[in-house]
Amino acid sequence: MTEHATTPALPDGFRSIEPTVSICPQCLDRVTAELAIRDGSVYVVKSCPVHGQQIELREANADYYLARNTFTKPGTRSVVQTESRRGCPFDCGLCPEHDQHTCIGLIEINGACELACPDCYTGRQDIPDLTLAEADRMMDFLQASESGQAEILQLSGGEPTLHPRLLDLIALAKTKRFKYILLNSNGLRLAEDDALVAGLAGLLPQFEVYLQYDGPSARGHSVFRGRDLRDIKERAIMRLTAAGIPVTLVATVRQGVNDGEIGAILRHAMSIPGVRGVNYQPLAYYGDSRADDRQDRLTLTGVLENLERQTEGEFQLRDFVPLPCNVERVALTFCYRENGRFVPITRKVDVREHLPLLGNTFAFDADEYLAQAAGDGGVCACMARFLSAVRPFIPAGYGRLSEKEKAGYFNRNLFRISVSSFVDAYNFDLKSMQRECVHVVTRDLRRIPFSAYNLFHRNP
Ligand code: SF4
Ligand code: SF4
Repeated sequence: MTEHATTPALPDGFRSIEPTVSICPQCLDRVTAELAIRDGSVYVVKSCPVHGQQIELREANADYYLARNTFTKPGTRSVVQTESRRGCPFDCGLCPEHDQHTCIGLIEINGACELACPDCYTGRQDIPDLTLAEADRMMDFLQASESGQAEILQLSGGEPTLHPRLLDLIALAKTKRFKYILLNSNGLRLAEDDALVAGLAGLLPQFEVYLQYDGPSARGHSVFRGRDLRDIKERAIMRLTAAGIPVTLVATVRQGVNDGEIGAILRHAMSIPGVRGVNYQPLAYYGDSRADDRQDRLTLTGVLENLERQTEGEFQLRDFVPLPCNVERVALTFCYRENGRFVPITRKVDVREHLPLLGNTFAFDADEYLAQAAGDGGVCACMARFLSAVRPFIPAGYGRLSEKEKAGYFNRNLFRISVSSFVDAYNFDLKSMQRECVHVVTRDLRRIPFSAYNLFHRNP
């Protein structure tokens, strides 16, 4: 792999923020680049000696981008498992250059799927079903990589509900002391299979379904999935929530497809008891995902600006905080119910004041802090201050509730909104690559940041 070291000259109208390293999407070599501002937005400006200058939108809102570092925390180092040889992103991983531990360890348990989405980042690979013995090894590896403190395990595919031993795999994961288990699903089987839903309900608590959801109109479904799946999604949501299984709606969003439904997705999700959150994912351009159409790329702050406009200011960009463990690519807020409406907690609590107390984790979790706030004493002065700030959001006698009652309380009264944007060859900048905290655990026992995996390692 060559590295091209020509420093790009900035075109007129751009103001440099800092140099970085990027990737040329044509030859996939490393190239030097600049992060630069023009007209209130941030761009990656790169220059490949072979393929010329390329300019890609990195973040729509430069003010948010420039302020993000006031939330950042030093990365949590993790066990190093590969050497630095060819340079990032080719040494995964994790190599010594990686600047964040694994918040979410993702295991792809199969390749089968009922759909053939044009933008599928797996490339619809023929991946065999993971055996329990392989899963056992991979889960142990993940725990060992995180010194026994691994937090969130995400089971993905393909479509993981088609794996014949899915329930056994989740049961196995529950023996491995993960704090939380997420199951990705397109919902097709969950909409029909009572036995499967009942089996999943038997594995509660600390378990949640990340349900693919493309919006309340047919458009997103048709473009992203090839057909209108609205009825199926509603049936899946209804069955899961009726069984008490928490659901997060995961919405792929793309300019010109469903960017006009960002507010409607949130309103719909908030109207269904048992839906615990929405995660927006601006489309990343991997493989054959129609990269030529990306002139109007939607970014993290583009999603938040749309959300603010489409909810007429009920949820605003300033309500969101960059996730302290990955300020580059994840933003979130928690909302609590007040007088029948959800209100962002960040309007009441200044997260910046409490950063030292928050873990470097996507599990930076209102539930956990509310639970601590319900306890008594035995904490340092800063923690006490933080806990007193969140205490108004918990009910009297919370500490005496059963696990089921606590889950019920959260289902009714808390709601999480997050945006996760991923790195592709166009918007690649080294710092955000090295900060990524969702890591694919491979069958040959490596951890590879999700974006690097889809870009370089899935089909080497
Ligand atoms: S993405 Fe992380 S693990 Fe992979 S090469 Fe870069 S720094 Fe190393
Ligand atoms: S549902 Fe998921 S795994 Fe299946 S084709 Fe679509 S994106 Fe790929």
